[in-house]
Amino acid sequence: MNKIHNFINGKIVESESKEFSPVFNPATGEVIAEVVQSTEADIEAAVAAAKAAFPAWANTSPLKRSRIMNKFRQLLEDNLDELAAIISREHGKVESDAKGEVIRGLEVVEFACGGPNLLKTDMTENVGTSIDSHALRQPLGVVAGITPFNFPAMVPMWMFPVALACGNTFILKPSERDPSATLFYADLINQAGFPPGVFNIVHGGKHVVDALIEHQDIPALSFVGSTPIAKYIYERGASFGKRVQALGGAKNHMVVMPDADVEKTVSALMGAAYGSAGERCMAISVVVPVGDEIAEKLKTRLVEELAKLKVAPGTDADADMGPLVTKAHLDKVSGYIAKGAEEGADLVVDGREFAMTREGYENGFFIGGTLFDNVTTDMTIYKEEIFGPVLAMVRAKSFDEAVQMINDHEFGNGTAIFTRDGDAARTFTNVIQVGMVGVNVPIPVPMAFHSFGGWKASLFGDHHMHGAEGVRFYTKLKTVTTRWPTGIREGGSEFVMPTMD
Ligand code: NAD
Repeated sequence: MNKIHNFINGKIVESESKEFSPVFNPATGEVIAEVVQSTEADIEAAVAAAKAAFPAWANTSPLKRSRIMNKFRQLLEDNLDELAAIISREHGKVESDAKGEVIRGLEVVEFACGGPNLLKTDMTENVGTSIDSHALRQPLGVVAGITPFNFPAMVPMWMFPVALACGNTFILKPSERDPSATLFYADLINQAGFPPGVFNIVHGGKHVVDALIEHQDIPALSFVGSTPIAKYIYERGASFGKRVQALGGAKNHMVVMPDADVEKTVSALMGAAYGSAGERCMAISVVVPVGDEIAEKLKTRLVEELAKLKVAPGTDADADMGPLVTKAHLDKVSGYIAKGAEEGADLVVDGREFAMTREGYENGFFIGGTLFDNVTTDMTIYKEEIFGPVLAMVRAKSFDEAVQMINDHEFGNGTAIFTRDGDAARTFTNVIQVGMVGVNVPIPVPMAFHSFGGWKASLFGDHHMHGAEGVRFYTKLKTVTTRWPTGIREGGSEFVMPTMD
């Protein structure tokens, strides 16, 4: 059995731990590897390596750091296919989708290559007579990132490229369900020329996370995952005096106005609700048609499209959607479908009826796409995040009702409106209590040079990830005020290039 170990100080380090957790191939249901549950000693070794690497890395010029980052960027691009295959094997998503994930992560690396520019700060001459003031953005030290299973390559890349570009060193705790992608690019980190200890990986579950939260040599934590854990990490991290950004779960609504283009809306909805088997924090899980006429049209077309949805192993080039990540998650999603029917929603298409019959894949964690209609806001399937290929239609009588519904929801990660009406779109973007908004764009994931983050229970902390917000999170602001005594030029020769005149 392939054993997955930690990456500490530039090397794969075999842990003394006797505890391992299984890693599945979700398409076949087989255990394909075991990942180590790190010990205290492993975590200490990682923190010590990152701490030792910090002073030299922080003092390496942003330009030199950027050159190394550029090599890493090139290596990621060269290894795109292999990385996508690794992701698909442990996560289950379709390989083309996995490539998309790597590219979105790579874009953050590209953003981080601009480190010298990103670290430029403000300066004011003559804040007082002959007194100047300038700002510094200095790194925090050893920072840690804890990431979810659903984007095993991209979400870590929301964090560490920006953290490293700013001069920090990094410890990553990836999801134990699909840990191999990050270990693969640890090797690329070495090839690119990052000094040992600048980037480290420790595997494991809650006990590893708790040790990182409590460690006095780690001043900041970035987290992405479910809301209860995000809240726990934010509160507990803050109690240890840490800077924390903790991104949580989601329930993303798409409002469809009566004037929307039905075909374009249906096509956008299919990808946004069922792509990656709904295991995306920006997936659309609730569609809110305004008026029964558009609701009926959408329902008819969605049923037709769901009949064509190709559910297959992620290695099939023409698959639309692969399996769910684990059997436990499959059972959870099936349980939500049962609950929705029990609570009185109309189960229009039941994904539980899907059966994978292909030889070798019968035990995979597959489920078909599900559609509910006439869901109401008091139902469990409306209130809770399902994180599977389940779309709930909640009919609204008016635009105002649709907006109120979204604003009343616990989560505020992403949302979208489909309309031809600029007035409705503008009002929507203005009043909606959600962090990321799409207008005729179903999954409005901000690009690397903007910042990613939700509102309400979808984000705890002050800073979104990557973009300018990421640079702010990973740096401390220092403001320097300078006064030089006058007359300093008298009394000596200057052989160096004059810089203070
Ligand atoms: P999860 O919360 O179960 O796990 C996330 C990380 O936390 C993992 O590394 C895991 O090992 C660790 N963890 C799990 N239980 C813990 C505990 N009790 N104490 C400390 N650490 C613990 O999330 P997941 O199932 O891996 O990922 C899916 C969730 O992530 C969904 O809720 C999804 O919406 C969310 N997500 C959010 C975003 C976003 O940007 N807001 C992006 C991706 C995923």
